[in-house]
Amino acid sequence: MKRAGGWRNAGVGALLLGALLLAAAAPASKKLSTLELALKAHVETLASDEFQGREPGTEGETLTLRYLARQWFDIGMEAGTNIPGSGWFAPVDLVEREPVMSRASFTRGRKRVVLPDQSVFVVTSGLRTLVQDAPLLFVGHAASPGMPRAEMAGRVAVMLDSMPVGADPQKAGDRAGRLLDAGALAVVTVLDGERGLEDVIARRNRAGYAVSGERIGNEIEAFLSPVTAELMLAGTPHAKVARLRADAAAPLFAPYLLGVNATFEASSRETRIRTHNLIGRIPGRNPAAGAVLLMAHWDHFGQCAEAPAEDIICNGAIDNASGLAVVTEAARLLAKGRPMERDVYVVATTGEELGLLGAMAFAENPPIPLDRIVAAFNVDSTGLVPAGRPVGIVGKGMTPLDPLIGDVVRRMKRKLAPGDGANAYIKRQDSWVLMQHDVPAVMVSSSYGDMERIERFMEDTYHRPGDQAGAAIDYSGMADDVTLQVELVRAFADARRYPARDSGRRQTP
Ligand SMILES: [Zn+2]
Repeated sequence: MKRAGGWRNAGVGALLLGALLLAAAAPASKKLSTLELALKAHVETLASDEFQGREPGTEGETLTLRYLARQWFDIGMEAGTNIPGSGWFAPVDLVEREPVMSRASFTRGRKRVVLPDQSVFVVTSGLRTLVQDAPLLFVGHAASPGMPRAEMAGRVAVMLDSMPVGADPQKAGDRAGRLLDAGALAVVTVLDGERGLEDVIARRNRAGYAVSGERIGNEIEAFLSPVTAELMLAGTPHAKVARLRADAAAPLFAPYLLGVNATFEASSRETRIRTHNLIGRIPGRNPAAGAVLLMAHWDHFGQCAEAPAEDIICNGAIDNASGLAVVTEAARLLAKGRPMERDVYVVATTGEELGLLGAMAFAENPPIPLDRIVAAFNVDSTGLVPAGRPVGIVGKGMTPLDPLIGDVVRRMKRKLAPGDGANAYIKRQDSWVLMQHDVPAVMVSSSYGDMERIERFMEDTYHRPGDQAGAAIDYSGMADDVTLQVELVRAFADARRYPARDSGRRQTP
């Protein structure tokens, strides 16, 4: 499970309290079934300190993928990347750029505008970028597409960070990106909305990895406070941010030059890592009928605390050794049972914690065309509740899969959790990426049938060294999730029970 937004520090007090609560909530020990024992063995191995928190591009990755590939091979799966020479392992190249240097200066006429040190934050998506003496063009909120290219070219766009009254920030999307696409040399954002300069700096300094080959470009963005903007514009007719806002709100607003030129320079340091998605296949009788996807992310954070803390490894037992254990044991049962009609692809994705990056790489470079995948089931963070609890669907009401999922759950004499509270987690897990590519993808698990339990996990243990193999994991609930995935995959791999999608991939709400 990917974190939602801002970084939270693990307070030691909260950690201890969490440990106590979990100890109190631990299920009474009883004899484990064969399936439960197998799940426990996977979790204890994958979440052991030896695996070092399964960080992409490290020894932890090598150990993790070697372990899983060995298991999957022994189960009788085939290599599934469909890339000649790659076999089981689809390479995913990630690149991170950290800001190193940033400089900004402005001139009005011939005169240099003096601004306080560090009052303008300049960042480049490239390694080193320079924009020299370019005129500033005020573009208002830039909330709607359609910036005229001719006006943008050779200029630096200045936009307000706030949104026009009543506008939907979701719809506005990447405003700076659009201005750059329209030919702006750089984009200056006046932070007149909720974000302050410190927020932007903190966020950009941990900008994180992206899949290599995604638009990285060589673009410059600058950020400044309204106070700095007014100093920069002092002596021009537009020197008040209130004036800029009023202009931007006017019905016939058109971009205008501010009478100030800017020079920006910024550089960044690049780190590249090569990591992998592991892809196996259980061949069906009729691959032409399409495929079903079963997936779980293998990566976690590696070291996530520093000495003098005693435990510095984030082992990621629930998140997501549990999911790997579930897909592995589900794959074993699926491969052993009667042959299915459709192919089943089993995928362990990388870089989920870095921003669903392995899933993005999978979607960009899939082993089969994405429109052949009739259904995808992601498994992330199971084993939170005992057996027999109601089943939650992350993505409920958002795909055409619901009716057959409901049918499968009923036949298993299980119950669906009421409501769609689990959808709160939709954007924080890999199936979201597939949904963006129109692949019907959900996460079905009893962990998400109990919102109180999953929220408690998020509060106590999630993304902390305390997420380790131990008494807090309920292997009976995890075993339930295995049988659930097996029944779901079998149902959706059967073209009579679930005909290939043809008309309208997405259910209209
Ligand atoms: Zn996570």
